[in-house]
Amino acid sequence: MAEPIVMGEGDRLEVPDEPIIPFIQGDGTGVDIWPAARTVFDAACRKYGKSIAWKEVLAGEKAFDEVGSWLPDETVDAFRTYLIGIKGPLTTPVGGGIRSLNVALRQILDLYVCLRPVRWFQGVPSPVTHPEKVDMVIFRENTEDVYAGLEVEAGTPEVEQLRGILYNQFGFKIREGSGIGIKPVSEEGSKRLIRAAIKYALAHGRPTVTLVHKGNIQKFTEGAFRKWGYELVKEEFSDVAVGWDDCGGEPGDRLLVKDNIADITFQQVLTRADEFSVIATTNLNGDYLSDALAAQVGGIGIAPGANINYVTGHGIFEATHGTAPKYAGQDKVNPGSVILSGVLMFEHLGWDDVGSSIVSAMAKTIADRIVTYDFARQMQGATQVSCSEFASAIVDRLS
Ligand code: NAP
Repeated sequence: MAEPIVMGEGDRLEVPDEPIIPFIQGDGTGVDIWPAARTVFDAACRKYGKSIAWKEVLAGEKAFDEVGSWLPDETVDAFRTYLIGIKGPLTTPVGGGIRSLNVALRQILDLYVCLRPVRWFQGVPSPVTHPEKVDMVIFRENTEDVYAGLEVEAGTPEVEQLRGILYNQFGFKIREGSGIGIKPVSEEGSKRLIRAAIKYALAHGRPTVTLVHKGNIQKFTEGAFRKWGYELVKEEFSDVAVGWDDCGGEPGDRLLVKDNIADITFQQVLTRADEFSVIATTNLNGDYLSDALAAQVGGIGIAPGANINYVTGHGIFEATHGTAPKYAGQDKVNPGSVILSGVLMFEHLGWDDVGSSIVSAMAKTIADRIVTYDFARQMQGATQVSCSEFASAIVDRLS
């Protein structure tokens, strides 16, 4: 019987055998990648005696055309009620009241973790020599930093007023004609993000959590993020985790929490990728880092993502790329990003068997050199297939 997922004791989801899961097909190539991904999800669930009661909800262009709203209240209510949902890419309305539909959903549901795992599949074209060393999970803070959207535009009365306050009350001289953005980073926001990263690392047997920050320059935001991270280890995890300075980098059987300046991190994820496992970072660093890492392992066509609040239980799993409008309706693009976002969702629900069967079937498909155009153009001897054929090839290899 179709039932909602509910939040149980100790921040754990209670998942029925046939959970109701709302989905947004997505704009542009959403018409191609969503049905392809769903075929894979349904086939993998069937193998393990499970099923999903999919519930379509509207957002983006489809919602605007059908009900005159980019993000109808019913859609937000469905995600609120059913806790877990999945979505394709959405067009950002130009000149509309909403800055970005994705940002709006994250803010309304306070989805404070942006989760981006990055791993390589055998045979996927990569610009680096050792892509097999890349196996990282990025926890990017999703609600603060420059994402909070606190900005005033150059040349407006507001910016002049703010410049005046900053000069008169703080002695901050800001050049005339500047726009001003505000970067808030709080103790509560930092600690809940780092807590989620540490819990994930412990639950998945990961050896390290690296706090990535620019604290040498931005001391009271990025530097404070680092400080609060180490504080948290001592306050809540001292029996199972230890900070680098407290163990000289020798954690024994505990989880090692270390930190790295953001700029050197961009070098080291290329040159010493195997030294990074779970990464916890502020919003803007995480934004750049997750796309840079995705490029090492095949690009945005297969990069999955999720936005999660581990306390309320809300989570929206999503393709990380955009709507690629020039390819819309051509049954051409790679559905891998939505498929792997679904895998992330199944793992989050505790359906690890369903998730790993999809991962190994996808790995076999790529190893057999059956790929969509984005990989085929970079691989020797590949068989280029359409979006739906790629999904069918995965279904054929489910075991
Ligand atoms: P985009 O849609 O991500 O497309 C950029 C390029 O990425 C495409 O031209 C294509 O590269 C490649 N690509 C995208 N999806 C792919 C897939 N499934 N398989 C293989 N390659 C893929 O970025 P955009 O053109 O800047 O943005 C278009 C719209 O999407 C905008 O309205 C933007 O606001 C929105 N957007 C939404 C989200 C979201 O909903 N999460 C995220 C980003 C952007 P090639 O041309 O090289 O083949």
